[in-house]
Amino acid sequence: MPQYDVTFIADVSVTERITAASKVQAREFAQKLINDTNVGEKKLDLDWEIEDIDRVEEHVIKPGDHVCDNCGKGWPEDKLEPIRDLHQRVAPGEIMPSGECPECHCLCHPQTAEATS
Ligand SMILES: [Zn+2]
Repeated sequence: MPQYDVTFIADVSVTERITAASKVQAREFAQKLINDTNVGEKKLDLDWEIEDIDRVEEHVIKPGDHVCDNCGKGWPEDKLEPIRDLHQRVAPGEIMPSGECPECHCLCHPQTAEATS
C-alpha cells in the first residue's frame, strides 16, 4: 500500500508517515490522529490542522542494492544501518548480511543474480 507524508500544523508542525490506499484515506487517517490527539512524538493536545499530504515514492530496487529480508525494499550500501546483535541474528554458515534495513531494521543482503524483483 502506498505511504503518504502528512504534515500537520498547529503552533508547531510535525510530519507523520501514514500508510493508506489513497490520499483521501490518508486524510481520513490523519484526521483520526487529530481526533485521538495522537499527532507528533509528544502527543501534544493542540488544535492540529492538516497542511500537506505528499505521496512517498515507492522504493525501487536498483542493481547493486541490498535487499531487506522482511519488507523487500532495496537500499544502497550507504543507507544501511549497522547490524545490532549480529551474533544472535546470523547462524554459522549463513550468508553474512550487509546491514540493517533503515525502515524495519530487519537484515539486508546483497542483491543476488537469482533475485527476481
Ligand atoms: Zn525492511
